[in-house]
Amino acid sequence: MDFDFTPEQELFRQSVREFADRYVRPRIKEMEEKGDVPQGLMQQMAEQGFYGIRYAEEWGGQGGDNVMFAILNEELARCYMSVAARCMMQCLMGTEFINLYGTEEQKRNFLVPAIRGEKYGTLAITEPAGGTDLGAMQTLAVRDGDEYVINGQKTWITGAHVVDFFTIAAKTDPEAGFRGVDMFLVDRHTPGVRVGDRIEKLIAFASGCYELFFDDVRIPADRLFGGEEGEGFALLRSILNDIRVHTAALGLGIARAAYEESVEYAKQRVAYGRPIIKWQAIQHKLARMRIDIDAAKLMIYCAAWRMDQGFPVNVEAATAKWFITEAVLRIVDDATRIFGAYGASMDMNAQRYLRDARWLLYGGGTQTMILNIIGIEIGKE
Ligand SMILES: Cc1cc2nc3c(=O)[nH]c(=O)nc-3n(C[C@H](O)[C@H](O)[C@H](O)COP(=O)(O)OP(=O)(O)OC[C@H]3O[C@@H](n4cnc5c(N)ncnc54)[C@H](O)[C@@H]3O)c2cc1C
Repeated sequence: MDFDFTPEQELFRQSVREFADRYVRPRIKEMEEKGDVPQGLMQQMAEQGFYGIRYAEEWGGQGGDNVMFAILNEELARCYMSVAARCMMQCLMGTEFINLYGTEEQKRNFLVPAIRGEKYGTLAITEPAGGTDLGAMQTLAVRDGDEYVINGQKTWITGAHVVDFFTIAAKTDPEAGFRGVDMFLVDRHTPGVRVGDRIEKLIAFASGCYELFFDDVRIPADRLFGGEEGEGFALLRSILNDIRVHTAALGLGIARAAYEESVEYAKQRVAYGRPIIKWQAIQHKLARMRIDIDAAKLMIYCAAWRMDQGFPVNVEAATAKWFITEAVLRIVDDATRIFGAYGASMDMNAQRYLRDARWLLYGGGTQTMILNIIGIEIGKE
C-alpha cells in the first residue's frame, strides 16, 4: 500500500498550480466583477491539455486517470472556483456521455473539438420544478420518424451562454417516472434552442448559470445516448460517482486555500502583543481545519484511485462528497472568523471561499440524497 503521490502526479500538481497562479489568479477580480470566465482563458486551459486529461489518446486526450483529474480540480479550485467549475463541466459533465455512449461521428464532431477547446459542452438536467426528482421531469422528447422533437425548459445550466452543445435529459415516456428519462445530445445551433436569462447567484459569480428553452427542437434520432429508450437513468447513474469524487476534489481545493491563508494571516495578525496563532482558540480552529482536510484528502484520493483500478465506489464516492461538503463549510466559516472584520471584506479571498464552498451542496446530488444513497448501499452490504 502506498499513500504518496507519484513524481509524475506531483509534477502535474505543480504545473497546474503554476498555470493557475500565472493566468487565473491575476484575473479573479475582473471575473468576479464581470461574472464570467473569458473564453480566452478557457482556450488557454485547452492548450494545457486539461480538457482531455481523462480521455483516450485516440480522441486527442491525455489518457490520464481519475487521480490526475482530481489533482486538476483541486488545484484549480484552490485558486478560483468559477474557473474550476467551468473546466470540470468541459472535462466531465459536458462531454462524458459522448465519450462513453456517443457514436464514432459524435466523438469526431463533438468530443475531439471539445478536447481541443474548439467546442464547449455542458449538462442540462435541472428544471424549474426540481432537479432531484428526475421522474417529475417535464421536458419531453417525442419520436417522429428519424428525429426526436424536444419541448421543455431547463434552469441553472452552467455555461449555457457560451457552449456549442448540450447533453440534456428529457422524458420519452411521460408515464414511466424516472425510467422514462433519456439523455440526448443537442447542438446549440439547432432551431428552437434558446438560452434565457442569467441567474444571479451567491456562489461562483463567474461560472454563469442560465435558463434554457427547447421549442419544437428537432434532432436526429441517433442523438439519443445508448440507442434504446428507457436507458437514460442508468446512463446518468453510471457517471454520478465520477461527478461526486471530482466535485469533492473541488471542495478540497477551496478548503486548502481557506486553511493556508488562515495560517498565514494568523502568523502575521497581532492581538494583545502576540501573533494570534499563539492563542489556543485560534490554534484549535486551525487544528480542526487540518484534521478535516487530511481526512477528506484520504477519502477523495482513495475513491479516485479505486475508480482507476475499476473497483466499486458507490459508497466511497458518496462518503467523500458528503464529508468534504460538511467539512469545507466549517472550514470557510472558521477562516472568516480568523480574518476578523477582513473576513467580511470584498477585497479579501475569505468571503469568496465562504460563498463558493456552497457549490458543493449541489454538484452530484444534495447532501440529503447522498445520505440516502449511502443508506441504500449499507442495506446491500
Ligand atoms: C451553482 C450551481 C450550478 C448548477 N449547474 C447545473 C448544471 O450545469 N446543470 C444542471 O442540470 N443543474 C445544475 N444545477 C442545479 C443542481 O443540480 C440542482 O440544484 C440540484 O440537482 C438540486 O435540485 P433543486 O435545486 O431543484 O432542489 P430540489 O430537488 O427541489 O430539492 C429541494 C430540497 O429538497 C430535498 N429533497 C428532495 N427530495 C428529497 C427526498 N426524497 N427526501 C428528503 N429531501 C429531499 C433536497 O435535498 C433539497 O434540500 C446547478 C446548481 C447550482 C446552485
